[in-house]
Amino acid sequence: MTVARGRQFFQNPGPTNIPDRILRAMDRPALDFMGAEFRAIAEECYAGLRKVFKTDQAIIAYAGNGHGAWEAAIVNVFSPGDKVLVPETGYFSLNWGKHAHELGLEVETLPGDWRTGVDPAAVEARLREDKKHTIKAVMQVHNETATGVANRVAEIRRAIDAAKHPALYMVDTISSLGSMDFRMDEWQVDVVVGGSQKGLMLPPGMSFTCASEKALKASQSATLPRVYWDWRKLVTGNRQTAFNGTAPVHLFYGLQEAVRMLAEEGLDQVFARHARFAEATRRAVRVWRGNNGPEIYGTDPRTQSNSVTTVLLPDGHDADKARAIALDRFNVSLGGGLDKLDKRVFRIGHMGDLNEPMLLGALAAIEMSLQLAGVPHGKGGVAAAMEYLTSVD
Ligand code: PLP
Repeated sequence: MTVARGRQFFQNPGPTNIPDRILRAMDRPALDFMGAEFRAIAEECYAGLRKVFKTDQAIIAYAGNGHGAWEAAIVNVFSPGDKVLVPETGYFSLNWGKHAHELGLEVETLPGDWRTGVDPAAVEARLREDKKHTIKAVMQVHNETATGVANRVAEIRRAIDAAKHPALYMVDTISSLGSMDFRMDEWQVDVVVGGSQKGLMLPPGMSFTCASEKALKASQSATLPRVYWDWRKLVTGNRQTAFNGTAPVHLFYGLQEAVRMLAEEGLDQVFARHARFAEATRRAVRVWRGNNGPEIYGTDPRTQSNSVTTVLLPDGHDADKARAIALDRFNVSLGGGLDKLDKRVFRIGHMGDLNEPMLLGALAAIEMSLQLAGVPHGKGGVAAAMEYLTSVD
């Protein structure tokens, strides 16, 4: 193993690089979380988040990670035995479903192709069959972080409407929020789950749910046990007015800076930057593909993610070996394969605080790692990424 020099290039699909501005913003003393100063900071954070989630409905922040917000979403709107439909897209969709099952729900998994994402027509067909409306909710991830496939949230909304089904629509935006366009109100999503450590560029440890009026209403009659996550204690009208215990003040300091940074760059520009970096990455991988080299796991150009690219290695090659070389030799950290993709893929995170040289440096290190790991690949992936990045604004 070589001694790491310089900065680590952190290309995991979460947590992501924490900008110095956010680290500095958090480098402050503690603050009375019941006082006026904290309330003003929190208000600025919620106002900023409303723009990112594109909602004017309730946003509830927790000291907790994404799994916590998953649980909050479930326990607030369901009663034991309620049935939910989980379109299968990969590790994270299945795990949210598993979480719901373990909390006492009946979970129906809608089988799906991990490489293309949710088929809106399949959702519509299944909901049409459910004439008695026994399915209480459709629970899906926006961006499946394991596969690098981004689901078509608006089209799935239209599928639910076309089936004239009253199911709640619940969407996990943990690896899309702040990287890819998401519109809670326009797409009529009832419950949204978000986390701090990806597009928001914060440390892990803070998560969010957003709840529509319909979801808040469901929470009044839901009977799953809930204490810490209970919206009834945290929300007045449609605004969060309380925390259960001490608010994570330093994460709010960081969040205040994060929403300022996103506003300064402009959300549309942030999304465009992510789209550019994703396309540059895909172009590099397409060159590596050459004659039976690594390939982009997501096969449908409509659903290839702009925040993470999952790269499938040819049979007989261990993705973890290439990943270990990237880390040990070049100090580039990549994500590994999850579930059935273990050792078969590595994942390049290109979300959050990232610029062209960071991305190109990482792609160069990956190209060298493929070489050193003996993975056959076409040469010149980085050049293709450079060519693309100079051809667009
Ligand atoms: N959902 C998605 C789509 C994720 O990518 C992750 C984590 O990567 C989670 C949920 C779980 O979040 P956490 O690890 O913060 O619990």
